[in-house]
Amino acid sequence: MRKTLCGLGIFLFFFLGMFSAAVQAAADPSIQLLINGSKVKPEVPLQLVNGRTLVPVYTVQEGLDIKVSWDGKNRKVTVVDGSKKIELTIGSKTARVNGVQKKLDVAPVIISNRTFLPFRAVGELLGAEVDWENKTRSVILNKKTTPPPPKKPETPQVVKVTSIQQTDQVISIQTSGKTEAKSFTMNDPYRIVVDVQNATLATASSAIPGQGTNPAIKNVRFSQFEPDVVRVVVELAGSAKYDLVQGASKIEVKLKDIQSPEPSVPPVTNPPVVTEPVEPPPVVAPGDGTTQQPNPTPVTGPLSLKERVRIVVDAGHGGKDMGATGNNAREKDLTLGISQHLANNLGADPKFEVIMTRDSELDKQLTERGVKQELSEKVNIANDNNADLFISVHINSSTSASGKGTETYYHSDKSKGYASTIHKHLVQATGFPDRKIKKANFQVIKYTKMPAILIEVGFISNPSEAKEMQTEEFQQRVADAVYAGLKEYIQNN
Ligand SMILES: [Zn+2]
Repeated sequence: MRKTLCGLGIFLFFFLGMFSAAVQAAADPSIQLLINGSKVKPEVPLQLVNGRTLVPVYTVQEGLDIKVSWDGKNRKVTVVDGSKKIELTIGSKTARVNGVQKKLDVAPVIISNRTFLPFRAVGELLGAEVDWENKTRSVILNKKTTPPPPKKPETPQVVKVTSIQQTDQVISIQTSGKTEAKSFTMNDPYRIVVDVQNATLATASSAIPGQGTNPAIKNVRFSQFEPDVVRVVVELAGSAKYDLVQGASKIEVKLKDIQSPEPSVPPVTNPPVVTEPVEPPPVVAPGDGTTQQPNPTPVTGPLSLKERVRIVVDAGHGGKDMGATGNNAREKDLTLGISQHLANNLGADPKFEVIMTRDSELDKQLTERGVKQELSEKVNIANDNNADLFISVHINSSTSASGKGTETYYHSDKSKGYASTIHKHLVQATGFPDRKIKKANFQVIKYTKMPAILIEVGFISNPSEAKEMQTEEFQQRVADAVYAGLKEYIQNN
């Protein structure tokens, strides 16, 4: 036993001796280092190992646009050059370049507490040319510097919109500098929308000089639509074509081919006098991106005496907005189905004039309208059309599959009677548990000016309710019930 140990001891000694011989390093202060043509003076002399030059780790960094870091725990050096990552381990002749192993002929070493890297190997891993010039005893490294990344297009200068004025049929938007404007039109009522890009509002007042001088232009308004977009909306009495003229400090909307609105047909019989609500012109319009104001109380005549009741039917969600999903159903499809049946019922009844916020996928319509905020646009459709009633159709969802039932929401007290009348019919038609009418702050019922409700027909998260709500028969039944509820409500209001 003793003999064996002794033999092992000799063997270990021999082995270590060989090992130390293998990394026999010699400092050679005469060696010069030239990186990309510049002499780099290392803080400690370079080392020669087996005829290879090793340089202190941080010297490699000098003159090259690379990042060197040292992980003492794992005795690892990481060199990052753009997207290239080179990992070297002390004593290991295997390097990793972006995770791929590469063989080195000399391993990195620690000498006098300093880490030295094989210069040629690292240079080549970095894609540099490494040469030895014997005459000057220089190690030369030339690395094509990676071209600087293409300059990002300069962020355009933000300009200020300093004033907006109307001169006859020209709307001028004064800006502090040149910027781009995009425009599009919206219908009902016809509006020309101009989005001034990279712009902030810097107007002293919300007044628009010259406003009201041309009867073809009903209203001009503006808002900070997005942090860097100023939106100017020109609302027309009829319609018009226009030119958008963009100058150095002015953007002009020049109207042409102005069409007057269709004259309203006078009623044949003498109808009871119904005072139409007189709406003050909004300073800023909801849906044009400005903060919507909660609905003021409008002056409304009795609905029962109205020749036609204008109702906006809002099929909840749409387009990219699926609403709730579950049990192989999507809320946006169910709400559209029910809303279409309801619109058909209403459309066949001369007492009603129905406007749908969407009658198909919403995305396309929104894109055409240039609308970003779906909910405010739904509110806008109702308010801009002076609708008498608003109903938003939704499907509920719960984290629990057992959640079920029908509920109806309203916001202001003037909508409470409307909610309870519709709900009475609705809950009977669904046959689902009665979750009653509830008060809520949903945007579409809060900011719409007319009596407005939001119905949650049933729970998509409940398998049996979801299954039933997908049937044509159920959707028609719900539409019939809401229609009956509307007729009852109108008769009594
Ligand atoms: Zn919903």
